[in-house]
Amino acid sequence: MQLRLIPLGTSAGRPTLARGASALAVASESGWVLCDCGEGAQLAAQRAGLSLSRIDAVLITHLHGDHFNGLPGLLGTLGLEGRTRPLVVAGPPGLARLLRTLERAGSLGTGAMPVNVIEQRGAGGAVTIPGSRFLVTSGALVHRIETYGYRVALPDRAGALDVAGALRAGVPSGPLLGELKAGRAVTLPDGRRIEPAEFLGPVRRGLAIAYALDTVPCAGAVELARGADALVHEATYEHARAELAHQRGHSTGVEAARIAAEAGAAMLLLTHFSPSVDGERVADEARKATGLRVVAAADQVELSIAP
Ligand SMILES: [Zn+2]
Repeated sequence: MQLRLIPLGTSAGRPTLARGASALAVASESGWVLCDCGEGAQLAAQRAGLSLSRIDAVLITHLHGDHFNGLPGLLGTLGLEGRTRPLVVAGPPGLARLLRTLERAGSLGTGAMPVNVIEQRGAGGAVTIPGSRFLVTSGALVHRIETYGYRVALPDRAGALDVAGALRAGVPSGPLLGELKAGRAVTLPDGRRIEPAEFLGPVRRGLAIAYALDTVPCAGAVELARGADALVHEATYEHARAELAHQRGHSTGVEAARIAAEAGAAMLLLTHFSPSVDGERVADEARKATGLRVVAAADQVELSIAP
């Protein structure tokens, strides 16, 4: 199964004509999750051809407006659409109270849709999304306010079945092969029992991406991105302004690339560009510093990750 990364907003601080406020869709055949929900995210999602009704969860990193302000509008739209399937909204402490206040003021209009707010605490942990194929965990990042990054993964898949070997061993083609492929032992017509491990290759790890913004370079981002197929990391400024970046709780593209390299991530998608920087130049610096595959995110430019 593929994972699609669809940047819906790649600007820092405020939307511009070229870049919306922070939002990234992570989609598979089974549905999608939204990482951050800056202003305009729901329109950008529709422009990208994503079906709002198929969203499984919203993962908010922190409560700065450029990551949160689109959420009330998105919840209201889902309510108007008549959704009754619960929606998981994960985020930092304070999120539940904020949404309750908006609800009481009549600003949300979630109708019959239950909103299950899951506030992250301490170092973070598993975020359970009932009915979703996505496996999500959070990890604490280091920003000016409490912030959590997320790792979004698909489940591991059974190893490839050695069909020829199984047939040679006398397993008849048909449903018994399917059972073995699914990892279950079978009993042959002659009474022999065959264990799946005899003909199944090693388990194939499900695709995984990490989402780390906003943050200074930190160990938490490395942990989230350990061995991931892609790290999505903020790169608010070019490296010449590293000091300013740190003062404001941010990173440069070069620093993001060092995090990705340390974590052994397969590639790096940079986002959250200050309106004052050229994203392509920031990605160039990061690439030269580490030799990693680095892509500068652009709104609506999708990146596919295949096994
Ligand atoms: Zn931000």
